Amino acid sequence: MINYRNLTPGELEAWVTEQGLPAYRARQLFRWLWRPGFDDFEQATDFSKSLRHQFARDGYIWTPEVLEIQNSTDNTQKFAWGLEDGEVIETVLIPERDHTTLCVSTQAGCAMGCRFCHTARMGFRRNLEPFEVAGQALWITDHVSEEQWPRNIVFMGMGEPLANYENLLKSLEILTHDLGLNFSLRRITVSTCGLVPEMLRLGHHLDVGLAVSLHAPDNETRNQIMPVNRRYDIDRLIRACRDFPLSKRRRITFEYLLLKDVNDSLEHARRLGRLLRGIPAKINLIPFNESPGIPFRRSSEEQMEEFQHALREMNYTVMMRKSKGRDISAACGQLYAEKAGH
Ligand code: SF4
Repeated sequence: MINYRNLTPGELEAWVTEQGLPAYRARQLFRWLWRPGFDDFEQATDFSKSLRHQFARDGYIWTPEVLEIQNSTDNTQKFAWGLEDGEVIETVLIPERDHTTLCVSTQAGCAMGCRFCHTARMGFRRNLEPFEVAGQALWITDHVSEEQWPRNIVFMGMGEPLANYENLLKSLEILTHDLGLNFSLRRITVSTCGLVPEMLRLGHHLDVGLAVSLHAPDNETRNQIMPVNRRYDIDRLIRACRDFPLSKRRRITFEYLLLKDVNDSLEHARRLGRLLRGIPAKINLIPFNESPGIPFRRSSEEQMEEFQHALREMNYTVMMRKSKGRDISAACGQLYAEKAGH
């Protein structure tokens, strides 16, 4: 049986016409499927009784189920979801000054093996289906207050989005469709640890925001903490960033996790500044949240400030990400790690 929510508008139309129904039924059905609170075809009042029965007989509607919600003192919320096969994924809802950002997962586990990451310790379990990615946003838009309704979506939760490329594209299509949740593509950012070919493919296909998890300014340092760098080294990655087709006013966000005595020296900051020269860039510095099993330490406040200052001196826009949700371990994979006793 098909899960209707796993179909893009085009796939739904193909399926509906195969059943001998007119194409406009697909548009009506898609609108229902992505309407918050819809979970029973009896609610689809513009369908005849027999059509409602036909849809209920031939397929089903399902999105991930919430297992647990954790609330941080700074109002960050973390959601753990159970999937049909028992896998667990998570989503974080982050309140900012004037809007809310939703951070979604694209894989259960991850194969990329970044040494500072909890999700990496799970190993790769499987790719998420389009409905499992978009479904995280659907449930949340249905259950949070209007002020908390997310305006921005970042694909920075569990998994490497570009390693699940086809399903990423389908979930983006569902999330941004005007008959669905109608998120603006301009407010969506896809993050990658540096899968160069898929990154360029995405840029040529969609005008979506790009965030690169860089975390080091040279191969020697990056090889130590991110195995992907042995496949696509810094030179290749930065060349791809320079070639990335950015529309006007867009900049690439470079994420940089500050790890004590690993990548946080002034020399690293200067190298980073030289490396990114000429790229329309925004740099997000991220303080590391120490946690058991991850062999790194948090940089001192002074070190982090000096690092930031050095980059500002080189005229970069640099943000120090506040440690949102620190009391609920809101870094990717941490809730899973706790639940699984890792
Ligand atoms: S940081 Fe991202 S890409 Fe790296 S292992 Fe974790 S989830 Fe995967």
